[in-house]
Amino acid sequence: MRKKFGEFLATQPRKYAEIVNAPGSSGNYISDAKNCRECFHSYDAEDCAYGEHVWRNAKDCMDVSTAGRNANMIYNSINTGIDVANHICCVQGWSSTFLEYSLNCFNSNHCLGSAGLRKRDYCILNKQYTKEEYEELRENIVAEMKAKNEYGEFFPPSFAPFGYNETVAQEQFPLTKEQALKLGFGWEEHPRGTYGKETVQWKDVPDSIKDFKSADINKEVFACVNCKKNYRIIAAEFQFYKHLNIPLSRMCPDCRHARRVAARGPNRLSSPQQCRCDYKLYVNEVI
Ligand SMILES: [Zn+2]
Ligand SMILES: [Zn+2]
Repeated sequence: MRKKFGEFLATQPRKYAEIVNAPGSSGNYISDAKNCRECFHSYDAEDCAYGEHVWRNAKDCMDVSTAGRNANMIYNSINTGIDVANHICCVQGWSSTFLEYSLNCFNSNHCLGSAGLRKRDYCILNKQYTKEEYEELRENIVAEMKAKNEYGEFFPPSFAPFGYNETVAQEQFPLTKEQALKLGFGWEEHPRGTYGKETVQWKDVPDSIKDFKSADINKEVFACVNCKKNYRIIAAEFQFYKHLNIPLSRMCPDCRHARRVAARGPNRLSSPQQCRCDYKLYVNEVI
């Protein structure tokens, strides 16, 4: 049935993008935005570019993955928000301003190359400086980075502690193993989870959930029909399926999630940005 529906869908015209109330914007899944270029899954944003999850009052943010809840002037950063401004190449800087190359710093301002700070100002490599010392040292470091063409570039992929395929990057911008390795990312070969520990064989499971018998559903282990990984179905989930009279899922949660993600549009512009009937590029105009 799913296969048949997929085949039917492929014969139907597809919406170029879902962009609502977003003048001057391009990308996909955008609403209530203005002048956002190549943004995806974004709303309540203005003058942003090349971002995904740019939202909830984001302004002047570029090259970001998740910036919002009052985010201003965020560049090349990940998961930034809650009253933030002026971040360059940071990861998870919340309620902080003027952060550069910092990681997990909260309620901190004017910090460079620091990690895990709370309520600290004027730190470099987590070391406390006076405002004057900080400004002088920072200027020298930035000048040196600029001379090496490093300033503004994100941390190199070799710093990543995870394989590309086990991060959300794979979900947002899927790569093959070869592509990831070529770009310098790692690739995790070892599968997570357990295999072959299932207590239920699908061939023994009746079609109707009403006929499914188990002494304790919480103790049962299932095996995914797609990737063979083990997973559980908890009692509340089982009751919910039973209530709706829908069958137990034969796929693990990861495979179900991957299937949902695959069904939505990719985070890139259809190229060329051109309608089949049109002779001009289709770009929203600022009204
Ligand atoms: Zn699976
Ligand atoms: Zn057209």
